Amino acid sequence: MLSNKVALITGSTSGIGLGLAREFARQGIHVMLHGLGEPGEAERLRKSLAEETGVKVSYDDADLRTPEKVAGLVAKTEQLFGSLDILVNNAGIQHVAAVEEFPLERWNAIQDIVLNSSFHAIRAAVPGMKRRGWGRIINIVSAHGLVASPFKSAYVAAKHGLVGLTKTVALELAEVSITCNAICPGYVRTPLVEGQLEAQAKTRGLSRDQVIREVILAAQPTRRFIEVEEIAALAVFLCGEQARSITGAAIPVDGGWTAR
Ligand code: NAD
Repeated sequence: MLSNKVALITGSTSGIGLGLAREFARQGIHVMLHGLGEPGEAERLRKSLAEETGVKVSYDDADLRTPEKVAGLVAKTEQLFGSLDILVNNAGIQHVAAVEEFPLERWNAIQDIVLNSSFHAIRAAVPGMKRRGWGRIINIVSAHGLVASPFKSAYVAAKHGLVGLTKTVALELAEVSITCNAICPGYVRTPLVEGQLEAQAKTRGLSRDQVIREVILAAQPTRRFIEVEEIAALAVFLCGEQARSITGAAIPVDGGWTAR
């Protein structure tokens, strides 16, 4: 059923986005890879994914901080593949600092990449989905879209905003076979999490191992990291017909974190 659909996954050169791209391609979904990084490495990824799975894979490195580039990324996907059926707003960054010391530039970058770019992408993708009468929008949010942690003001604010955007878009599109949902993962060991271990250690006066044990895994009753494949399996399910009545939901995959 998903074979030959077309997906754009923002931030799919790394971590969760790359895991989603791999699983979507295995399902026969053509994939627009996207993200920053070294062009040679992105091309190697693109080529290997296409060769392994036989689907069409393209790549773009639009910087999501610029609204026109986000709209351009959606337009380029539609031009190259003839359609955009599944939009996954996944790209994200993190910065850990006390609120009174939070750098303005980092605050703005997080709002732009996490929240504003998702709005711009949805805005650009919906007209085509409406014309074709089918669509799936999945926002990769976070447990931090549902609950807060200290020292992550920008991220928590942007992710809570993205849950609100998810619900609003779902209501607007409920009658036209386009669903919009949020997946809210707990901690997944990706470069984004590796990158914040040092900052968390410094801000909290702990060692890296203590941060993993006492901050990160302490948040998750299961006491283990979430695997990328668990997020990808849920995303595939949300794209299928069995999930056509699931819309406007913020679904935790967080080892019980937000059950407390
Ligand atoms: P990652 O750092 O591995 O990947 C982030 C991706 O976003 C990369 O492809 C990067 O190139 C892209 N990106 C960053 N800034 C960009 C910009 N300005 N323009 C274009 N692309 C840009 O991160 P990840 O851990 O895989 O996170 C993916 C998403 O999942 C994020 O939205 C993150 O908030 C969310 N998330 C992650 C975790 C976790 O524990 N890793 C938990 C919950 C939610």
